[in-house]
Order: sequence, then C-alpha cells, then structure tokens
Amino acid sequence: MSVMRVIRLEAVPVSVPLREPFTSALGVQAVSDYGIVIAEADDGSVGLGEISLIWHGDGAALCGLVNRVLAPAVVGADPFEPTRFQAVAAKLLAFGRHSLTAVAAVETALLDLAGKAVGRPVCDLLGGKARDRVPLSMSLPIGPAEEVLARARRLVGEGFTTLKAKGGGDGDRLVELVARLREEFGPGLGIRVDLNMACPLAKDALRLIRRLEPYDVLSVEQPLPADDVDGMAELCARSEVPIMADESVWTTGDAWRVLRARAADLVNVYVPEAGGPLQARRITDMCASAGVGVAIGSMPELGIGTAAAAHVAFSSPRLDQPSDVAGHLYHADDVVHGTLVIENGFLLPPTAPGLGVELDRDRLERYRIAAPTTSSVL
Ligand SMILES: [Mg+2]
Repeated sequence: MSVMRVIRLEAVPVSVPLREPFTSALGVQAVSDYGIVIAEADDGSVGLGEISLIWHGDGAALCGLVNRVLAPAVVGADPFEPTRFQAVAAKLLAFGRHSLTAVAAVETALLDLAGKAVGRPVCDLLGGKARDRVPLSMSLPIGPAEEVLARARRLVGEGFTTLKAKGGGDGDRLVELVARLREEFGPGLGIRVDLNMACPLAKDALRLIRRLEPYDVLSVEQPLPADDVDGMAELCARSEVPIMADESVWTTGDAWRVLRARAADLVNVYVPEAGGPLQARRITDMCASAGVGVAIGSMPELGIGTAAAAHVAFSSPRLDQPSDVAGHLYHADDVVHGTLVIENGFLLPPTAPGLGVELDRDRLERYRIAAPTTSSVL
C-alpha cells in the first residue's frame, strides 16, 4: 500500500454569525472569527480542521501562522503520523499556548484524511466507539432572567435535558436563575453552572457554591482563575458540589498538574486547547487513570470543530456529564454540510469516513474574511 501524502495545506479565515449574541463572564460573542484548515492529499481527498479560539484575538488571526509556519512542515507528511506532526509543531511554536488551536486544526485535518483513506470515522482512529450516544448540554447566557428562561424553555422543548447556566460577578442573579430553573423544570433537568473564572478567591466561590447546593446542580465549572490550582484543590476538598476544571486545563501538561493536585472532580476537555483530537483523547485517558470525571467542552465550534469534539466524546474511556458538543447549533450558518445527528438531546455517532463533514465551498467563500493583521496571539 502506497503512503498517502499531504500535497497542500491552507487556512482560510472566516466570520460566521451566531444565531444570537451570547454573553458570559468572558464577554459578549456575536460572531465566530475562526479559521478553516483544508489539507489536500495526493489521492485527491480533502481533510478539514477548524481553528476555534474565542480568547486573546481569535482563530481567524491564527490562519497566517498555519499558512506561513505549519503548512511548509506538513506538506509531504503522512496523515497517519500525527504524533510526528505534533513534535514538529512543538518545535516550531515553542511556548505558543494559543497557537495550540492552530495545531489542533491541522491535527484534525490529518485525522480526517486518515479516516477517509481507510473508510472509517475518526473515532475509530482514537480507540473506537466507547458509547452509542453522547448526552448534550446547552448553555444559557448571562442576561435578564425572563430572556434566559425563555431560552431554557425553547431548549427543553427541543429535547435537551441538561442546561448550563453561565455565571459572572452577580451571584444573586445566578442563584435566582438556578432556583427558577429547578422550580420550573423539576428534578428531571440536569443543571450545570459555569463561572468562567468569575470568583477572585476560593472562599468567595465556596460561599456561592453553598448557595447553589439546595438546587442539586451537576457541577460548578471553573469558579477560580485558571492559574489558581491550589484554590481549585481547596474547593474540591470542601465543596459538596463537584468542581469541574475548564480554563485550568488546556494541555496534557495542565491536566497532569491539575490531576496531581487533586484540583478537579471533573475536567472539561477541549480539542482546540489540547492541540487536537488525539491530544484531547490523551487528557481523557489521564483523567480515567486518575479517577477524575470527563466532559467535552466547546468554544463553541462550527461544524468541523464540533465533529472533531464528537469523535473524542464517542471514544473517550469515560464521559461523566452531558457535554457541550453542539457548537454548530449556536451558529446561524456553517461552512460544511453533513451535520451531526442529534436526537432528544443526545448526539448519535458519526458514521461517515473521517470527520463526517464535507466542505461547502460556496459558503466558505460567503463567510471568508480578509486575513486579520497580526494579533497579540502571534
Ligand atoms: Mg467553561
């Protein structure tokens, strides 16, 4: 069997609007400025990846990095050697934390090509399916209670059984929202809470978490700043509600530090932050070894990035809470067709070869933007 080679790699910056602006403790997001990575192989097949990044600039700004730095290193590569690619990328982009989202997009494109080459979905390259459906969680933005509750009603009406309430500086607002969600939807609704690092101190977080305890929340996500691993460990030791690490864990190295410090009951694992689907799967393996729970997180991604996260969710050895693998649902449109199948709040396994999504060139052109000038990320 002849070896497949990548003959061309390009990242295209796009700007796709959200269905409605989304407010969290991180700010307001109305569009996703991301990058679409297109890898062409010598057999004519095309692999896709997505640079999804909402912090510190954006994914679109990293397209130049892919085109200038990573593409020359990837052309000629065998898509079945993502580990070798990671080593090359680590050398080229030393200390580039945000550039991991670009590395993730390229790794995703390589896996998409490899899956297509053998006619199997990407999850089969990540250990194979470990479950037949993935429970989803949809997020509720920070906003006026009536608006947020209307959104919750719509989502529950669509069949979703877990919602994630975003919290910020106003603890009273959050506690009131969670109380009203519990009152209106009863014990059958799974409620997650995400604080996106809003609490300055572990003691502040603990006080807020104790107020949430009566409402039976599944987890409280990242109450403290990403670097406050000691504080997160203190919360894990003292909180009755499971603590989920999100911003504290980007890479396998972060996972090692957080797991070793017992600073999370659960970890929200992201493909873009980990540096690709294989890297994200390594983190889920580490969590499994440490006896720590797993959920799969979202930026939220468009269809390509969501598919990549789905393959990780289906192949992870453990998946403990409903996951955010539905980024495409927050967007008004997409650049791919062949979307993921969601049934009654559960994601069904993608079965097509590779990621299972195909680029729509017309829509790629519709959402293409001029390459952003160099941002602070680079
Ligand atoms: Mg989060």
